[in-house]
Amino acid sequence: MTTAFGHSTDRTTHQQVTPNASATQSSAIVQFRGVTKTYPNGSRGLFDVSLNVTRGGFLFITGPSGAGKSTLLKLLYGAERPTSGEVIVDQLNIGQLRGDRLSLLRRRIGIVFQDYKLIPSRTVSENIAFVLWAQGFTRKEIDRRLPPTLKLVGLQHKADCFPEELSGGEQQRVSLARAIIGTPPVLLADEPTGNLDPDNSRQVLKILTKLNAMGATVIVTTHDEQLVQMSNQPVVQLREGRLYRNF
Ligand code: ADP
Repeated sequence: MTTAFGHSTDRTTHQQVTPNASATQSSAIVQFRGVTKTYPNGSRGLFDVSLNVTRGGFLFITGPSGAGKSTLLKLLYGAERPTSGEVIVDQLNIGQLRGDRLSLLRRRIGIVFQDYKLIPSRTVSENIAFVLWAQGFTRKEIDRRLPPTLKLVGLQHKADCFPEELSGGEQQRVSLARAIIGTPPVLLADEPTGNLDPDNSRQVLKILTKLNAMGATVIVTTHDEQLVQMSNQPVVQLREGRLYRNF
């Protein structure tokens, strides 16, 4: 079992997720405690969401458009703050982070987006290394980390290509490499297979699974039912800002 609140062996259908008393705080790397997010225009992104994800866990978050998936991820990486409740990532309370402490949080989280967000004028290697340069890593350390990271995503032979020379699947694997080269304990993927065909989606899932086996906590939002079924990992569902168990 990888999440602290239960697993697919619990067949309760569409029961709202509530905190589990057996979930020890120390085992949870991500905690939402009664989180509500209301945007300034009054739209509600999340309502009273409680969730624990254990260190080294894997979790899928599904739900229709507008259900609150992006809001949940934005709260996790500090792009938004909760209106009430607490979001805690690797012992950092997001609502209280400012400035330097916020960049500390961002170093603990790798993010993969549906639309890759690569820099078109930079090569694959440069796109991947960029995040390390920005964090002040030495050239030597960057050169040490690049080859195994490229290998992990199967792109050694594309290191000097530009994004436009790559397929969508390859571009997504560059964005995966960029997310993990800093070895963050938490990896967030926002609809990572949204623009990919089934073969490329499988490849992305394989890499996410491998990273999880290497110790990363992986949280994936998706519409892709096949991806969820293939993976046999725990799933929760968001609907109108509320979190439910899927099985
Ligand atoms: P999803 O990622 O599941 O499609 P979102 O988290 O983007 O859902 O949106 C959840 C709700 O919050 C929607 O009603 C949406 O309109 C609203 N929302 C999201 N971002 C903002 C924002 N920046 N300002 C106002 N409302 C927002």
